Amino acid sequence: MILFKRTTDLHKYLDAQRQTGKKIGFVPTMGALHDGHLSLIRQSKSITDLTVCSIFVNPTQFNDPRDFEKYPVTPDQDIALLVAAGCDLLFLPAVSEIYPEGLQPTMQYDLGRMETLLEGKFRPGHFQGVCQVVHRLLDSVMPGDLFLGQKDYQQCMVITRLIELIGYKEKTRVHICPTLRETDGLAMSSRNRRLGTTERAVAVTIYQALCFIREELRPGDLARLKEMARKQLASKGFRVDYLEIADAGRLDPCPSWDGKQKLVALAAAFLGEVRLIDNLPLN
Ligand code: AMP
Repeated sequence: MILFKRTTDLHKYLDAQRQTGKKIGFVPTMGALHDGHLSLIRQSKSITDLTVCSIFVNPTQFNDPRDFEKYPVTPDQDIALLVAAGCDLLFLPAVSEIYPEGLQPTMQYDLGRMETLLEGKFRPGHFQGVCQVVHRLLDSVMPGDLFLGQKDYQQCMVITRLIELIGYKEKTRVHICPTLRETDGLAMSSRNRRLGTTERAVAVTIYQALCFIREELRPGDLARLKEMARKQLASKGFRVDYLEIADAGRLDPCPSWDGKQKLVALAAAFLGEVRLIDNLPLN
């Protein structure tokens, strides 16, 4: 695996590779890698010629400075995992490399209602930060294929929108890959490392609450079902940001269901200081 720290070096190398006809796949991450990330690497390797992974803990997408400070950083372990997975290139830039002009936004992305719903509502500015970094990374890597995890359901929608906004739609195909889970069902996440033993045992309730919604879903009013699931989380000590049943395509919250509309259940909740998110397509 080749490690790049500078955008210009990476860009030059990839340009030469592209000219020889190589198909480039890209997996952007914030590191503290787990098997969920590696599943994206494997997916990229199966359909492209050259897989690029980036590790960059992006300061502009953290609305909570403490969350940024506490974000796990495990470069040596990450490099070993990427080598073992057969990743071809790692881009590991410093903050000054991605934001040479400073952290102030240089442009505003029109994300429409996405910024007012769910993660957008509870993490103001978060998706603008995601767009800033992904825009810069796309300009550096210029991948033909981009691999994202469904674990971050709304982020997949935002990045798909970004790709339209910045004119990458014809150049880059987006692949949304399934969520990998621990054996008890907890969605794999870098933030799981921050959970204590007791919290880790309880954390799976978030997935169980989503499964409960999927099992109990019936046409009609959804308020009671949402309330029951929310209570399951609260009773285990979660502080719930949202637990919502939404239209799978637009993410508008659904007060009721006609039995046909495609739905997804999404949750974000704190266990102690750690904020976990998960989602489950329902039908
Ligand atoms: P992150 O490092 O958390 O920013 O995630 C980098 C990429 O990995 C994003 O596209 C995530 O959606 C994806 N990802 C994170 N967790 C999982 C998981 N459990 N299963 C599949 N993909 C994941």
